[in-house]
Amino acid sequence: MADTTLPTIFGANVFSDRVMRERLPKETYKALRQTIDRGVALKPEVATVVANAMRDWAIEKGATHYTHWFHPLTGSTAEKHDAFIQPTGDGGVLLEFSGKQLIQGEPDASSFPSGGLRSTFEARGYTAWDCTSPAFLKEDAAGNVTLTIPTAFCSYTGEALDKKTPLLRSMTAVSDQALRVLRALGDKTTTRVISTVGPEQEYFLLDKDFYLQRLDLITTGRTLFGAPPPKGQELEDQYFGAIKDRVSAFMRDLDIELWKMGISSKTEHNEVAPAQYEMAPVFSTTNIAADHNQLVMETMQKVALRHGMVCLLHEKPYAGVNGSGKHNNWSLATDTGVNLLEPGHTPHENAQFLVFLCALLKAVDTHADIMRATCATSGNDHRLGANEAPPAIISAFLGDELTEILERLAKGQKAASKEAAFIDIGVDTLPELPKDNTDRNRTSPFAFTGNKFEFRTVGSSQSISGPNVALNTIVADALDEIATRLENAGRKNRNAEIAAIVKEIARKHARVIFNGNNYAEEWEKEADKRGLPNVRNAVAALEAFTTPKAVKLFEKHKVLSKGELHSRYDIYLEQYAKHINIEARTAVQMARRQFIPAALRFMTELGNSVAVTGKHGVVQRVLLEQVGELLASAHKKVDALESEAGKARSISEVAQQAAAFRDKVLPALQKLRADVDELEEIVPRDLWPVPTYADMLFKL
Ligand code: ADP
Ligand code: MG
Repeated sequence: MADTTLPTIFGANVFSDRVMRERLPKETYKALRQTIDRGVALKPEVATVVANAMRDWAIEKGATHYTHWFHPLTGSTAEKHDAFIQPTGDGGVLLEFSGKQLIQGEPDASSFPSGGLRSTFEARGYTAWDCTSPAFLKEDAAGNVTLTIPTAFCSYTGEALDKKTPLLRSMTAVSDQALRVLRALGDKTTTRVISTVGPEQEYFLLDKDFYLQRLDLITTGRTLFGAPPPKGQELEDQYFGAIKDRVSAFMRDLDIELWKMGISSKTEHNEVAPAQYEMAPVFSTTNIAADHNQLVMETMQKVALRHGMVCLLHEKPYAGVNGSGKHNNWSLATDTGVNLLEPGHTPHENAQFLVFLCALLKAVDTHADIMRATCATSGNDHRLGANEAPPAIISAFLGDELTEILERLAKGQKAASKEAAFIDIGVDTLPELPKDNTDRNRTSPFAFTGNKFEFRTVGSSQSISGPNVALNTIVADALDEIATRLENAGRKNRNAEIAAIVKEIARKHARVIFNGNNYAEEWEKEADKRGLPNVRNAVAALEAFTTPKAVKLFEKHKVLSKGELHSRYDIYLEQYAKHINIEARTAVQMARRQFIPAALRFMTELGNSVAVTGKHGVVQRVLLEQVGELLASAHKKVDALESEAGKARSISEVAQQAAAFRDKVLPALQKLRADVDELEEIVPRDLWPVPTYADMLFKL
């Protein structure tokens, strides 16, 4: 960082508002802003001017190619690079980039999963420029610079084949309904409401040499075997601990790469598990946050390699220590800059806050199943309910003070915050609320943290689009109902209606509030009594996408059609099955080619030793028997795993197949692991064919 300073690095590779203002004719800039801010259709002549400016800017900065960057349903990102060059026929080239090329692309991307939305031989998908997320330059280590244009990916029938399209639709839905509520509350200035997100990203680092020796990490992202190390996270000496030089060098490079792309990486620290870390950016609009989070994950992996390390984004790379999540901080803001989940100072602001808070409670209680479904992956199953991450039960933490206020309002009593005076509810005003009542609860899946909700169920490797599509849409639906009531009540009865709404929701949906320890067994029982769903695995959780309730919700707000929902259900089940299948195949290979041969070598050594030492070879004989038994058992279990995986593979119905992988294959894998891990504890270190947990977790 010798000759550069942060202000010159930050956003250097972004075709930002500032760059647009500098480079576009005033009228073009204004027209584009109208499109970005108000969704006004972009005229072709405007697109042409923007494309030219973008091309010139990119080429000046060394770009040779451009790409329409999109988010297929695989959960990762996709890009196909096109060079700017256009041969002129006389042996020369022009550097071309038209308005049409900016606005629309037609990648031959027929191999992406569509879940039956289109057949590969017919309607191709096309990509459409999302001008609300700025274009940027991506640099790779080889020095290639690519103008990267965020796009939505749809079929020609208009169906969404990606994760961005529904996200954009859901942002519109929540804005429309929130605006209705604000209008009904007397707000005349807000013209748009924006859902904001700051996703905290957890990850592990390990030495690349260790990584390369573990087929399981390479093919599945997690260790399928590994005896527990002598030390885990019990000393609690890692969380917020001093960052090792090697890691801090990585973090500095990561920051610079992210800052260049306009990603405001802000906070970096050690997490709870050994070799686990976290990065938190400054929040932005949901849409940009989702794009940025994909880039964060990609950049972490690239930069780690430069430092001889590998970044693991899997939800549970190691058994026995914490897994990784993505705390999805979510709120709503007006275009005038007011955070709608920020308790205010005046009674009016508080009424507004309480209405939005109640909308959230109603939404979460009514659609907990959908929230859970958006975090359902095979990786996240290892985390949810494993006493480290939030449980699979969705509840909301509000803190004692807010909960008490809502309880009083539910009973129709006067509400008072701890330090504020009593005020009548139902007359004109609501109580002044405490500004920061955030006694933190780290165990809650959905925690109010003062001015936003933190959705902690989200897995570390997944796209944040799905969870935010759900949040935006379920909140839009609750706001819709509230708006209708307020509109019908009219100006004169407004305050009474607010009081009635708050009272009703505080009563009806109080069951979703839980401020206690979410890891405790008693909570499971209590949640069951309250009737809260507790869906323990991804296969079952995904069903929430196909219920009549879900179809009605997503269709009503024009976020996802029935067909789009079903396609997602199918694709995610298929992904689940594929992931477990790869895990099974990997485990079989490692056991057959690495662990069983290692144990055999040890047995040979022991056998030789018995032969040499004769009657003195007492210990050798004991060990020989022990290893022999474990080996025989492991050998059987490899066969069992292989057979179960084969049976599961032959099932053609996708839900049944996924269930077989969950119920038959995973347990078989777990049984094999138990034997192999036991072998690891007696086979000599020099014969053990892969790095141990202690190597991977502590040797950085
Ligand atoms: P912590 O949760 O550790 O106290 P912060 O409160 O600073 O940390 O925020 C954590 C994340 O929440 C950051 O990414 C931050 O940008 C984000 N955040 C803060 N305010 C909002 C908001 N209004 N909407 C969405 N995300 C927010
Ligand atoms: Mg946090």
